[in-house]
Amino acid sequence: MHREFLMGNEAIALGAIAAGVNLITGYPGTPSTEVLETVAKNRQENQYVEWSVNEKAAMEVAAGAAYCGARVMVTMKQVGLNVASDPLMSLEYIGVKGGMVILVADDPGPISSQTEQDTRRFSAFSKLPCFDPSSAQEAYEMVQEAFAYSEEYGTPVFFRPTTRVCHGYASILVKDVEEYSLHKAEGFVKDSKRWVIFPRLSYQNHRKIEERNERLSEVFSEYERNRIYPEEGENAGTRKGIATGGISFTYAMEARDSLGAVRLFKVTTPHPFPEKRALEFLEGLDEVLCLEELDPVIERELTYLCGKYHLPVKIYGKLSHHVRNAGENTRDSVAEDIRKFLGEPDNDSARHMGIEQEREAPCGTADKGQSAALAGEAELPAPPALPVRPPVLCAGCPHRASFYAVKKAMKGKKTIFCGDIGCYTLGNAMPMDMVDTCLCMGAGLGIAQGVGRIEPDTSCFAFVGDSTFFASAITGVVNAVYNQARMTLVVLDNSTTAMTGHQPHPGTGQTMMGEVVSKINIEAVLRGIGVQVVETVNPLDHEAAVECVKRVESEPGAKAIIFKSPCIAVVKASNALKASEDRCIGCKKCVRELGCPALVIKDGKVRIDDSLCTGCTLCSQICPTGAIGGGKNE
Ligand code: SF4
Ligand code: SF4
Repeated sequence: MHREFLMGNEAIALGAIAAGVNLITGYPGTPSTEVLETVAKNRQENQYVEWSVNEKAAMEVAAGAAYCGARVMVTMKQVGLNVASDPLMSLEYIGVKGGMVILVADDPGPISSQTEQDTRRFSAFSKLPCFDPSSAQEAYEMVQEAFAYSEEYGTPVFFRPTTRVCHGYASILVKDVEEYSLHKAEGFVKDSKRWVIFPRLSYQNHRKIEERNERLSEVFSEYERNRIYPEEGENAGTRKGIATGGISFTYAMEARDSLGAVRLFKVTTPHPFPEKRALEFLEGLDEVLCLEELDPVIERELTYLCGKYHLPVKIYGKLSHHVRNAGENTRDSVAEDIRKFLGEPDNDSARHMGIEQEREAPCGTADKGQSAALAGEAELPAPPALPVRPPVLCAGCPHRASFYAVKKAMKGKKTIFCGDIGCYTLGNAMPMDMVDTCLCMGAGLGIAQGVGRIEPDTSCFAFVGDSTFFASAITGVVNAVYNQARMTLVVLDNSTTAMTGHQPHPGTGQTMMGEVVSKINIEAVLRGIGVQVVETVNPLDHEAAVECVKRVESEPGAKAIIFKSPCIAVVKASNALKASEDRCIGCKKCVRELGCPALVIKDGKVRIDDSLCTGCTLCSQICPTGAIGGGKNE
């Protein structure tokens, strides 16, 4: 160990390097910017750093790397978190394998931002644990602990310094290079039940997250940084306490030196709130003053606990108008707030603000009559089990042909297929099994890039629909081109927004008002962004599609294939095909490899259900005996 005079952001960066961070992405924003810059300057071998095109792309690239077991960090400021919230909210439901620290620097004041939003609230909203450092030294040490918690609980975690922690300087103890941890990523292990977000998985994982956060509340109650400083000396019998966190804790400790040692509770993990430790703190107190910047997070938690446990403790803070409810705290403002609290508690004001409310009858008593009525009802017989109908791509869906072409072209190679949100997410079902990850709209691009950074020997594909391309995938393409990622984008262009009911989009040439407008050409957009290799092919021409994938994938850098064929719901179907009973040898290749619902087996041979078949001809192209024919080519 040795001492260095460092800015808080530099301390966080060195802490992340010491923890063996493998990849760090971010988008610049005061007061967070120097964290990524410092990692870039001091990075060790195999540590990848990029400024991403925005916070969403940064989050997705980092998520892909974390899926591989890499330790990753994403940096942004609080308003940037709004941009990243789409992948973030889903990522909590998916979880991570490698430790993932999301550094969001808050800006009370605000000094250089549009809003005073509080990431601790976003933490509760998104259900992610949050670490709130109070000094540069603590930030250095705590960021290393945050990686460990993230890995142990399989969740991204927030690390939320505020401006004065980020930009304050201090002489701090840091590790020598020889003491750094080396973290090696295990690699991506395919498991679509884990990495593809389907509604059923979300429901199951939501339950697990709630249980985990209850457990974490207990774990954090034992975390030594959530600490109670006992009252001492002349304040020993005052029955008053101060609850605080972040930089306000540091200010409060300074005030304590001159104003006396009142009992103090330092909240380092505002979410999940360390409930048991908080109850220890509240024990025997009459009044508590909450000192925190931005939102009254600690104040609300303590008020809630007093209600939950019927504790006769008055909680003062922003909600009770005892301290300012906006702007930055300072050393002087905190000292002044404490002085007033210890000298002249304004009980009238507290009563006026509704702190002393009469307690209602215990919850639940009003429902008793209703429960009895329900109990008297005859029990209904259990309904019969419904037949299982797994979701499946439609018969003749061009996406089936696209997935199949990529699968054939990449057979035997190490690949990852990053899916996206749309009906093509169903490409994850057997027999296609072509969606290894799915997070949120447009995320496949970033995830493919993240996996590629950790596993350069993997061929990384990102699939996206035409509507999703316009909605939120374009930034991911810009990110790939700018940061020189090696990946293949596959645009599944079926000329509509199929999953939600065939709404028009910028590539369809009409608006919702029925106006005919210029179509925005996806190939031209990709070329305009700088993608050098872009090919458009009809996926229903199987041989040409496979050749195209092989050719394009072997090119360096970011390249794209546009599989263009309209959705079966927007064009008139051709005549259904027919399978010849004489020529079919019952090998089931067509059923096994395509899974088209129009193909059925009868007496060991294939039949085609002409009420479903659209005449796409894909099955006839792969049948080894030429048993399938007819349709419009007949
Ligand atoms: S032609 Fe074959 S693959 Fe296409 S819809 Fe008909 S049965 Fe299915
Ligand atoms: S691939 Fe051809 S021969 Fe094999 S089961 Fe299908 S139709 Fe019959």
